[in-house]
Parts: sequence; C-alpha cells; structure tokens
Amino acid sequence: MLELRHLNKTFSPSVVPVKDLSLSVKRGEFLTLLGPSGCGKSTVLRMIAGLEQPTKGQVLIQGEDVTHKPPGDRNISMVFQSYALYPHMTVADNIASALKLRKIPEEEVRQRLREVSHFLGLEALMERKPSKLSGGQRQRVAVARALVRRPSVFLLDEPLSNLDALLRENVRAELKQLFESQQAPVVYVTHDQTEAMTLSTKVAVLNDGNLQQLDAPHQIYAEPANQFVAGFVGSPQ
Ligand code: ATP
Ligand code: MG
Repeated sequence: MLELRHLNKTFSPSVVPVKDLSLSVKRGEFLTLLGPSGCGKSTVLRMIAGLEQPTKGQVLIQGEDVTHKPPGDRNISMVFQSYALYPHMTVADNIASALKLRKIPEEEVRQRLREVSHFLGLEALMERKPSKLSGGQRQRVAVARALVRRPSVFLLDEPLSNLDALLRENVRAELKQLFESQQAPVVYVTHDQTEAMTLSTKVAVLNDGNLQQLDAPHQIYAEPANQFVAGFVGSPQ
C-alpha cells in the first residue's frame, strides 16, 4: 500500500502546488490524479518517487516512511511523459537498465527481459535504438522498463499524451489490464477526463493544489462534489 499523509509542497509563497494532500492506494487499485495543467499532479508523483522533497508531510510505502529515502531505495517504477529512454542504448539495454543497480543475476535478467518483451510484443525490436521506433513502440519500451523491476508502486505521468487519438484509445484498455495484473498500487496522472474515467478504480480531482474530490469514477461523474469537478469531468448539471 502507498500512503500520503498531509503532503505539502511550497516552491515560493505564490507557488504552492500541493496543499495538505492525504490519500492511500492499495494493491490492485488504480488511482488517477486528474486536474488542469499546473495544478500540481507531476509534483505529487515526483514527491512519491523521491525526485522532489515535500515541504511537509510523509510518503509511506508498505507502512514504511520513505519520505527521506533517495529515489533508488524506494522500489518504485515511474513512466515519464517523455519516456526518458537512453538514445544510445538498444531497447533491450534500456529495459535492462532498470535492473542494473540491483545486483540481479545475469540469468534472471535475461529471463525477465524475455518475459516482458513477449508480454509487450517487443521481441523483434530488442536490438533497435529508440530513434528507430514509432511513438507507440517507445511508449511500450518505457512501460516494459517499469514492469521489469516488479516494484511496490507504479507511477505514470501522462504516458499516453504523445500518442495519436486512435492509438491512445487502443493502448488505454491494454494499460488497464496490464497494470491490474501487477497487484501493486498504480498512481496515474492525466488531464484527460476520459482517460481517468476509463482506467481508474479511483479518481482524485485536483485544482490549484487542493484535492476537490476522491471517489470511484462513476461517483465523480454522477455526484460531483462542487462546480469545479462537475465542469472538469463534464457531468450533466
Ligand atoms: P501539467 O498538466 O501541465 O503537466 P501539473 O499538474 O503536472 O501540470 P506541476 O508540474 O506539478 O503541474 O506544477 C505545479 C506548479 O508548480 C506549476 O505552477 C509549476 O510552474 C510549479 N513548479 C513545478 N516544478 C517547479 C520547480 N522545480 N520550481 C518552481 N516551481 C515549480
Ligand atoms: Mg505534469
């Protein structure tokens, strides 16, 4: 389980993108942080990953306070909007790079690579460089790199935003199945309400650093907590 307790982030007196955020995500749950550009979604993910230090509050993973642990000690996989692949490495090396620092035996690395490449249909692409891949293929490599680590928590920051509309729709259903089968908490960030509604078990609607509502997708839609939520998810008024 992932737990956030009274999380705050202040960049400057006028930029406070996360204000007293508390929530939890259990194994098998898929939580989406939904909100407009600049509302603090990526900042929340970066604090969970340890890439940004909270001004106040705690991050707990499986009951352990990891707030002051470096990113590498948190057993978290993050997929970035840009995918952040290493351009000079092959697909296989990009995926395996997630395992390099962890002293995993060579044979197990090969086994995991075989599994994950089969799972995501990447077998024929393993020796290519990222520049020779399509956007959708790069996205699969980034997902494969997240999965291969078998982390305690998955974080995904707008992983579909670089794909065209049709591909985005196809990949959406696939992502949902894929991450549901992992039995680890997933926190997914998007400003696309359709994506949030179709993927998630729970949706947290954020605006200007404040949590507006945290509920199942159908409840958010049918019983929006306020005008902002209603407007953002397009509920009938
Ligand atoms: P988007 O949907 O556009 O990705 P977001 O909800 O992910 O937006 P954040 O990236 O979390 O938004 O940014 C929230 C606010 O914090 C913005 O006003 C942003 O300019 C500011 N911010 C983010 N990182 C920093 C930083 N390192 N220093 C100062 N301000 C920052
Ligand atoms: Mg962002």
